[in-house]
Amino acid sequence: MVSRNQQLFERAQVFIPGGVNSPVRAFRSVGGTPRFFVAGHGARVSDADNRSYLDYVGSWGPLILGHAHPEVVAAVRDAAAKGLSFGAPTESEVEMAELLCELVPSLEMVRLVSSGTEATMSAIRLARGYTGRDVLIKFEGCYHGHSDSLLVKAGSGLLTFGNPSSGGVPDDLARHTLVLDYNDTAGLEAAFAEHGGRIAAVIVEPVAGNMNLVAPRPAFLQAMRELCSDHGAVLIFDEVMTGFRVGVGGAQGLYGIAPDLTTLGKVIGGGMPVGAFGGRREIMSRVAPLGPVYQAGTLSGNPVAVAAGLATLKLIQRTGFYEDLTRRTRQLVDGLVGAASRHGVPFSAQSIGGMFGLYFHPACPRTFAEVMQADKDAFNRFFHALLDAGHYFAPSAFEAGFVSSAHSEADIASTITAAETVFSAW
Ligand SMILES: *Cc1c(COP(=O)(O)O)cnc(C)c1O
Repeated sequence: MVSRNQQLFERAQVFIPGGVNSPVRAFRSVGGTPRFFVAGHGARVSDADNRSYLDYVGSWGPLILGHAHPEVVAAVRDAAAKGLSFGAPTESEVEMAELLCELVPSLEMVRLVSSGTEATMSAIRLARGYTGRDVLIKFEGCYHGHSDSLLVKAGSGLLTFGNPSSGGVPDDLARHTLVLDYNDTAGLEAAFAEHGGRIAAVIVEPVAGNMNLVAPRPAFLQAMRELCSDHGAVLIFDEVMTGFRVGVGGAQGLYGIAPDLTTLGKVIGGGMPVGAFGGRREIMSRVAPLGPVYQAGTLSGNPVAVAAGLATLKLIQRTGFYEDLTRRTRQLVDGLVGAASRHGVPFSAQSIGGMFGLYFHPACPRTFAEVMQADKDAFNRFFHALLDAGHYFAPSAFEAGFVSSAHSEADIASTITAAETVFSAW
């Protein structure tokens, strides 16, 4: 039988670069044919070949309530029936801004955008405009969307400025970005000692989720907060992934650190395109039309997207929501670690709230270099074996995974059983 996924992929490649609208979807890292999804309900998705999978990607994080949650879908329907877009203010945006500022205490003002990339790009421009400085610090392995200033890799020396990590990014721009090692407090201190007065901002994933999952050392985040305050630099927590994913107050709530600016996305749109950047009133007051830092968007605060986000944010405030999500996610990682160890497979895993990391490596990594030591071929074998058995994990060894409130204890148990079968024949 000819696979419809395969047919669609071939058709897609004629008119879409690589057949996909975002690169990791192409399965280049794991090989094989991407699944073209037809529908999703709760924890499950089904593909064009009529196969069903338990989904541990959740659209890369947004779907914390699972697919097509009835209350979210109803909110979207209601909003859509009243008009898809106005390009003018609506009450739902006000409600969204109030709710975000209430749930994330470091937010005093917030602006809505349509993607995580827009949020981080705007936050960086704002930090530069506010400080009157150009230098940006980021960390290797953290991803903050695809704007020019952020597609930069480390330079040749420890404290030298970066080089573009993508074609089309001017060297001149990359030269303003310093790329340091995640969780390396000494490196950060050295960078501030050398360049302190020129640093506009430090941007970080407070739990790194784009190099698989790397947990922060609390002292690293603490030092970052102090160094930014001491040198007048803006601390930006990129919580596009971790916001409302690791807990209701994001990673900043979990680790008890207040950044100056926060970027949000993914969960706050509940599967629709919503991003946000916000933080201290004094800084946010520099954004147009109040201040000189320009930022705008035709579809920003789109009423249908905001309706999905608001419905999602209402449901995650349920008592016990994050306790349940955390327990379910831990059930998965503990189960996988147990199954691997019974069969002698070098494997480790961890979770924070509703996100998790799986590593074909004996211990959970703390640095980008350790992440790179994991056995990628082993991951790819695991990925395809689980996919064949109906369990859809992220198609790359370097991505985090996500559990939703729609995943039942029995769902997780079935994934552990499938993994045990794979490990027993390892
Ligand atoms: C996903 C992500 C982004 C980019 O968001 P998009 O909506 O894909 O543009 C930025 N930062 C982090 C931490 C992310 O996980």
